[in-house]
Amino acid sequence: MVETTLKFIVDRSLKPLAKRLRMLGFDTLYSGGSSLSEIIQTSILDKRILLTMKPLSPTRKLTVFRLDGDDPDSQLQQLLEAYPLQEHAVFFLRCLICNAELSAVADCADLSLPESVRERKLPIFRCPECQRLYWHGSHLERMKAQLERCGIKLNKP
Ligand SMILES: [Zn+2]
Repeated sequence: MVETTLKFIVDRSLKPLAKRLRMLGFDTLYSGGSSLSEIIQTSILDKRILLTMKPLSPTRKLTVFRLDGDDPDSQLQQLLEAYPLQEHAVFFLRCLICNAELSAVADCADLSLPESVRERKLPIFRCPECQRLYWHGSHLERMKAQLERCGIKLNKP
């Protein structure tokens, strides 16, 4: 697999977009409490593309992508046109809440899971940071449908 260097940081107004990028597996920081200058600093240090609706200019060190309009689906479409997101997307890789990469849980016996999930023996994944559990259920299907409406093709599991 090609290692993607596409990493993002979004400003405070773009939480729904950050969530969509995480659904696609992209390392995306959403800095709720940080000031714009802190976000810019992190963007430069971490080589993250800064996504914003503000009139910010890129510099030699800072990569800025200016988004048009506040609809997150349309914002994702703008990014799809600008970056090879489709090529590097890995669906269901990352926690939507804290951005950490999920790991598969080998032994589900002690987990508190809905009975239907247990019966179907679905693979379970856990976020190493917030301990939240993920599995391929109806919520995931809705997320996929949402992304597909934006023009993403999700053939991968
Ligand atoms: Zn998490």
